[in-house]
Amino acid sequence: MPLPTSRLSPLAFAAALAATVATTASAAPWRPEADFSKAPVYVATNATVPEVEAARLILRAQAMVAGGEDPLTNAVPAVATNFPSAGIVVGWQGSALVAPLAKDLGLVDWYEAKPKLQDTVVQKVVGNTLVVAGNSPQGAYWSAGDLLYRNGARFLHGGGADGEDGTFLEYMTGLMAPRDWRHQPEALIRMGFNCRCGASKLKGAERDAELVARNQFAARNGADATGPLNGGRAREWLGVESIQPPVNEFKKHPDWFPLIDGKRWRPAPGSGWEWVVEGCWSNDEFADWVVENNERRYQQRGGSNIVAVLDITNSDGGRRCQCDDCVKLRASYPDESSCYFDYQTKIALRFKERHPHLLVETLAYIMSRSYPKAGNKVLRGIDAIDYCPYARCFIHPYADKKCPTNKTDLDRMAEWKKADLPIGDFDYMFDVFNPPMGLPVWELTADIVDYWKDYNKPHRMPRMYSEAAVEGGCGSRSRIAAYVFCRKLWDASRTADDHLRDWCRVGFGEGAEPMLAFLRAEATAWTNQPVHLTACFNNPLGTAKTFMSDALVAQGSNAFAKAESLLSSAAKGASSRDAARIRKQQAALAFERKVFEEWVALRAKALATSMEIALESGEPDEKGFARMKKYPMATRYPSWQGNDITDSFAQFYRTADALRIRITSNDKLFKEQKWQERRGDEGKFDWGCKAGTMELFIQSPGQSGYYHFAITAEGALYDALAMDAKAFDSSDWKVDSAQRDGFWQLTLTLPWGVFGIEGEPKPGDVFRAVVVNNAHKKNEKSGDIATFSVGVPFPAYHDIGVGAALVIDDFGGRRPE
Ligand SMILES: [Zn+2]
Ligand SMILES: [Zn+2]
Repeated sequence: MPLPTSRLSPLAFAAALAATVATTASAAPWRPEADFSKAPVYVATNATVPEVEAARLILRAQAMVAGGEDPLTNAVPAVATNFPSAGIVVGWQGSALVAPLAKDLGLVDWYEAKPKLQDTVVQKVVGNTLVVAGNSPQGAYWSAGDLLYRNGARFLHGGGADGEDGTFLEYMTGLMAPRDWRHQPEALIRMGFNCRCGASKLKGAERDAELVARNQFAARNGADATGPLNGGRAREWLGVESIQPPVNEFKKHPDWFPLIDGKRWRPAPGSGWEWVVEGCWSNDEFADWVVENNERRYQQRGGSNIVAVLDITNSDGGRRCQCDDCVKLRASYPDESSCYFDYQTKIALRFKERHPHLLVETLAYIMSRSYPKAGNKVLRGIDAIDYCPYARCFIHPYADKKCPTNKTDLDRMAEWKKADLPIGDFDYMFDVFNPPMGLPVWELTADIVDYWKDYNKPHRMPRMYSEAAVEGGCGSRSRIAAYVFCRKLWDASRTADDHLRDWCRVGFGEGAEPMLAFLRAEATAWTNQPVHLTACFNNPLGTAKTFMSDALVAQGSNAFAKAESLLSSAAKGASSRDAARIRKQQAALAFERKVFEEWVALRAKALATSMEIALESGEPDEKGFARMKKYPMATRYPSWQGNDITDSFAQFYRTADALRIRITSNDKLFKEQKWQERRGDEGKFDWGCKAGTMELFIQSPGQSGYYHFAITAEGALYDALAMDAKAFDSSDWKVDSAQRDGFWQLTLTLPWGVFGIEGEPKPGDVFRAVVVNNAHKKNEKSGDIATFSVGVPFPAYHDIGVGAALVIDDFGGRRPE
């Protein structure tokens, strides 16, 4: 291709630019000044992949503005050796064209910026040349995305598996440039959801990464810098799980591994869970290895030229070492969190001594979720922390003071203010269900950004990460919410509803109006649910019941039909350019319809599991149970109609004082245990649903959470509010156990006061209950004994939305005989 010549040398240009910088305010609003829709686009001879891609994106936009069609693949920028006298120059500050001007453009290398990693993009016109620049190679790409967005382009979603394109350049009417625009995003690091993109074999995954990059977001795991837009000097992380002993060294160094029940332990190699292991923290040799191992990884990944962050995180729930020295070590701290951060601090300080430029980040996660009681002296050497709000409520915004689930998490987060460090968010919104579902949570994702922005003042938000561990999961099904998250992290000035309107206008074209009304109704229905939802990988079945109503299903069906018909009318007689645009909008609509229909189908299944039990009144002794109906316990949905090999059943009734529930299990493999009641002993309750444990989840009338009771065959009793083990501890409820080989029976007496009810519940009141018997099953081949769970209506555990309705009837509690 012909190389353009420049009439202005870079140095002379820099002088001219310096004169203009002095007279222009740097924080002026973005205001269109001059049209560059016909200008040639240049990159430097040393251009990196992101810079070339940025220029190609601008060329595509120009072709669309000119009234043509989108040249998806064949647009190529010119390469200039000297700064051109007219046109568009795309580059980061390391670009041979931009470097001489970098200082005057106010570009400080992303790596050296204060705060460190601060992105800056610049769009500036001097003479007849527009400079589209950033302070990293990706920054140049982000600057191009920003310029086009402000000209009406929208980058709505990543490519679907069918190669569907979410880039809309069709609504641009020009390529107007601001005289002098400089922008710094709300969050320093913006990444997440399709975090397995790089490794994904899903068709379209790479395009997904490319498309979210147009919204200035990185679709990848912090540890993985693959992807088309990471050319040149990429940002790099060392992490995650950077302080775990290596399973393949177990034979050589067993003492690096935790002592569990008297033996050194490692996860099974090849299990996929090799990283879920904590080291022996009293072993100095192990600590030395951690430092050296990170040093090796640092060098392998390009050292100080590339690596900017060391991310130290604890293992995902690994068990702690029980060796004498580790037990002593932990006991020397006021809490587990202090022990955890002090260990990290020591590693971080040793590493920083060698590499002072490195930014050290860590997570507030599991054992280290609470602010350490030892205070900031155990946070030395740590520059930023990502709080993991997996215990937040994924239905209600933080501002909703009526949500007790959020309150617990907000209290814990408020404590972290004492750290006076930038606190980021390692968010789990898109991990809430497995199987994954689409979530109408754009208001919530916007709320997350606004919340952390405000929380961090006077710091900036450090890393904002949104996890979506399941490929093709909630993150990709929840395109609108994911889009709003990206947009808000770049520029928080617009609301979730602004972006929703944009999405409908651009994504659904002529079909926008009915879709906007429906999507707004859907978001309202989501946050109006009378339940709370927290933690990861929940079964969405109960939510399908509480979220969707007949009216919403009808509105959705009508909205899709209307939007489809409006789009197909518009397609009739459309120009080939409009027809191409409408095809993309039809594909976007079809995708949303699929997501909607998944909910509708799930709701139909959930309604089919509905069970209503009249809570009759009876005598407060054996006579009460003697005449009550036996409800057989079922195996897990969808195979719940299968045989219950344990032949278990439940009975329910009420007295003037209490709710009485009996679970009877004819578990052939049950062995009689010594029954000795032990309360408040959390350690004795096995969260892994061990066989020989019964669990009850009960929601009282008007309550949005639920109570959780568990009883083991050895007599350990546990009670909690929802999923918080410490929120509820009542000694008012009573249990009687009867057992012998092959038979176990529990009788619970739950006084109304346990549920906060004074006197008796009223006719028409409804309790909701999930009753689970974790029994035994023998694998005929291996002989192993596994858990076989049955329940009423089936073992739904915390999914209280599908619980059986226990209705206080208005027959005075006794059905006519
Ligand atoms: Zn140890
Ligand atoms: Zn809630």
